[in-house]
Amino acid sequence: MTSPRVEIDLGKIQANARYLVRRLGTRGISVTGVTKAVCGHPDIVGAMLDGGVTSLADARIANLFRMRTAGITCPISMIRAPLLNEMEDVVRWCDASYNTEMDTILELGAAAQKLITSHDVILMIEMGDMREGILPENINDYAARVIATPGVTLKGIAANFACMRNVAPTDRDLARLSRLATQVEGACGPIIELVSGGGSANLTWALGQGSTGRVNNLRLGEAILLGTDPVTGQPITGLHTDAFALIAEVIETRLKPSSLPTRSIAPELGMLKLVRNDDLRARTILAVGQQDTDTSGLALPSGYRFIGATSDHTVIDTAKSAVPVGSEMKIGMNYSALMRAMSAPDVAKTVYGKQKMNGSADNREAHPFLTLV
Ligand SMILES: *Cc1c(COP(=O)(O)O)cnc(C)c1O
Repeated sequence: MTSPRVEIDLGKIQANARYLVRRLGTRGISVTGVTKAVCGHPDIVGAMLDGGVTSLADARIANLFRMRTAGITCPISMIRAPLLNEMEDVVRWCDASYNTEMDTILELGAAAQKLITSHDVILMIEMGDMREGILPENINDYAARVIATPGVTLKGIAANFACMRNVAPTDRDLARLSRLATQVEGACGPIIELVSGGGSANLTWALGQGSTGRVNNLRLGEAILLGTDPVTGQPITGLHTDAFALIAEVIETRLKPSSLPTRSIAPELGMLKLVRNDDLRARTILAVGQQDTDTSGLALPSGYRFIGATSDHTVIDTAKSAVPVGSEMKIGMNYSALMRAMSAPDVAKTVYGKQKMNGSADNREAHPFLTLV
């Protein structure tokens, strides 16, 4: 089988989605499945929907096309502000978009009117992450202007946490978002139907004991796909963390000295006396590199150590064990590595568990050629 490839266990993604939909459902929070890290891969999206997710969100129009072309009909929102040259596509293919600029919203309204329809707008509020967002003191003004714009409907407000800054939201942050929803209703009239609290970084808060207030939606990518908390990188209890694996082939294995030859030591260190190191370590090269994934986000089998990577090679230290050339290594990925691998054209995507979902046999066993090292 071709490598590098990402192996995808749809059953685990479905189980993660189902667990989160159920747990958050009891807290009055709906789950929007975020599909950007898998580029809207229709089978993966299908697993999220089978797990009970009822709406999706993506950041790119190309991913949206892919999902719509594959026959996915559920509501999809754009979580990145639309570009001015894609307004008609956004209106045609999305039910809603997250916005922070009046110029963009006016264009969306014009496109919707041209297509004789209406488009839902969710206003993103800046609450400390310092990526996109309207400042809280300006939210009433923006809401009033959206309400006055033909072609668009104000559907809700939202916040985003832990994207730029790796800081989880607090009870106070979410309570403030709830108050802002009520404040906008008082100032502008219509009911704020959707209060979307953030992404996977909000789960500790959402699954805790405190009041969820007006927050009735989360947009979840990492938790469904990888089962991890984006702030800590730690597994979330109850979720599978191994739905994805990167498989790469060994193209060189050689015992090499663990210290560098003297001449490659930086001149400023020349005065240091180098002691010869005859400790030979097995270095293995994998046929995968920066062009395929974020190599700094790979989780190697235990006992192996990442040495470095270039565009097409990844060098690892396998201690004393020589890994045969031609064998395959199974590697875990963090969100950034997953996202890069899923969008890399040279990385194959192999899906398991699809037939099972359609009610026929599981094809997960039919895999004798995978040598795990
Ligand atoms: C990517 C993204 C999400 C999903 O974040 P996860 O941490 O993967 O759950 C949610 N909202 C916005 C605006 C995003 O860009």
